[in-house]
Amino acid sequence: MTGMKEFYFTQLRGNSIKPRGWLRDQLQIQADGLTGQLDEFWEDVGPNSGWLGGSGENWERGPYYLDGLLPLAYLLEDEKLIAKATKWVDWTLNSQDESGFFGPQANDDWWPRMVMLKVLIQYYSFTEDPRVIPFMDKYFRLQLRVLPERPLTAWAVPRSGDNIYSVLWLYGKTQAAYLLKLVEILHQQCTDWTSFFSYLPYKSSIKEYIPWKTLEDIGPDRINDNNYRQTHTVNVAMGLKEPALYGMVSGDADHQNAPTSGIKQLMRFHGLAQGIWSGDEHLSGNNPAQGSELCSVVEYMFSLEVLTAIFGQVFFADQLEKVAYNALPATIAPDWRSHQYDQQANQIKCSEQPRPWYNNGEASNLFGLEPNFGCCTANMHQGWPKFVTHMWMQKGDDSLVAVTYGPNELTHEFEGGKKIRIIQDTDYPFSGVIEFHIETDQPVNFNLMLRIPAWVEGAAVQKNGAALPDLAAGEFFSIRDTWQDGDVVTIILQLEIRVTKWFNQSAAVERGPLLFSLPIQEKWINLPKRSIDRDQQAKQAGFLDFAIHPQSDWNYALRLAEGNVVVPDVKELGAGTSPFDPHTPPVEITVEAKTLKSWTEYGGNTTLIPISPVDVDEEEITLIKLIPYGGTNLRIAQFPWFE
Ligand SMILES: [Zn+2]
Repeated sequence: MTGMKEFYFTQLRGNSIKPRGWLRDQLQIQADGLTGQLDEFWEDVGPNSGWLGGSGENWERGPYYLDGLLPLAYLLEDEKLIAKATKWVDWTLNSQDESGFFGPQANDDWWPRMVMLKVLIQYYSFTEDPRVIPFMDKYFRLQLRVLPERPLTAWAVPRSGDNIYSVLWLYGKTQAAYLLKLVEILHQQCTDWTSFFSYLPYKSSIKEYIPWKTLEDIGPDRINDNNYRQTHTVNVAMGLKEPALYGMVSGDADHQNAPTSGIKQLMRFHGLAQGIWSGDEHLSGNNPAQGSELCSVVEYMFSLEVLTAIFGQVFFADQLEKVAYNALPATIAPDWRSHQYDQQANQIKCSEQPRPWYNNGEASNLFGLEPNFGCCTANMHQGWPKFVTHMWMQKGDDSLVAVTYGPNELTHEFEGGKKIRIIQDTDYPFSGVIEFHIETDQPVNFNLMLRIPAWVEGAAVQKNGAALPDLAAGEFFSIRDTWQDGDVVTIILQLEIRVTKWFNQSAAVERGPLLFSLPIQEKWINLPKRSIDRDQQAKQAGFLDFAIHPQSDWNYALRLAEGNVVVPDVKELGAGTSPFDPHTPPVEITVEAKTLKSWTEYGGNTTLIPISPVDVDEEEITLIKLIPYGGTNLRIAQFPWFE
């Protein structure tokens, strides 16, 4: 080992990017909902948390919560939320003992500390608090000494990549050589994700390989079983970045290639149209009735953010937008006051009843405070804030990279002190037009790099109205120039409607990064008993649990002609303030369809989606309206079709 490769892109300071427009509204909805209030009524992150010195929960829930609360607080510059987050950070920094260990003394698991290290990196990124670097240095020196005798166990083994992430971050600050030795140890003690993602041994639902009973019989120690570890959907989502992070040190091509191979195979054998694989909560094949856990959605997003930085490839950023703009908003209520454990691509009823999950409970697709289990309740908060802090990255000293698009503004100071502000004015992803307005006191020379998504069929980039040549889909487009105050760059991404094929040849309707689906009329039913059972306080605070029952037909087959839907109408209605609310969709696509009478409900799910093309000869053509998947709570997103 002689050092570490450079990250292709580096992350900017946390407070250089601010959300604007609908994206800021989304973060504010989050702050007004569960993220801003959870600590006031959910005891697992309440004042008695072990991570605040209390005798309560002392494992992952406090750090999980902070991993989203902290960046949200700083992005919104919300003093009340900053004070809430800082309390946890101060306790943590003050908890470090002589040896370098930190956190609740009553729990010495390495795993929750991995999460808290990620929190501290974000905290440093916003504040540059001088306590953080010596704190991490002391802890990593302890890990180097102690890990050989007290190795990673249980959840820390498959999730060791998150520890490596933090070690490499510190190496970037200090270049201390021992950190690379620590990376080696953490990699040796980690699950072998490189082999797993290179060959993906599970090419259909884990049910077909290992019945849940077999793993259940192992008892609480099953987390030490490799079959369990490597098929657990959250481990998979987190594990994707480990080979790449280790590859920064090893330089080995197998490590560097594993994440791309892993994502492609996961999507082929377990993939769903909303941009993530199934896992309820182990890899469950690609039937759109299977569930995807919320924790896997936000962890996959973070892995993609890290992978984009490591490789600088459009591929990862494209996947990131797909998950952020579809799977994430779909599984959280539009008012951010409830969420699901498992979402389904074809979700026709949210109700407490047996479903063909691998091992999740009957309440997993309810919207509530902690349906099935409370991990997602604690972990869901990181999705949007980290997405925002990774929208721009830097390459070298003089390139600014627009990695993902959406309304925001970037403030940046180049070496030498020249400052620039770039306002990204757009309703993207609901519109394909993105304007960058440059503000600067003096002309400044730099390279503006813009992502041209792989899905785009036609794109144009203009500077002050003049078209620039040589765009290529799937690559970053560079504009090196001396920029003046008032310069405007416009990207026009043509949002063509396209159909992609999934399980049993089902058809999904996509437009740009958005998946479109049929919204089913919803009846929300308050479940008073569930709310009272565990969390009277939550109920008093107005955070309830709900079933959702369908009030309209959903059993349609789409008409395809030449591989695409027949679309009489597309309406762009503007992002508004709540684009992921089914009552205020920003885009509506009308398509031709027919009722498919043989496709019915069974046990709260659709019956098996028939293999397409399907026979609907005797039915009349009808028009159905599709809206963005992220704005639906009941829906069909993968359709049977006929020609
Ligand atoms: Zn979870």
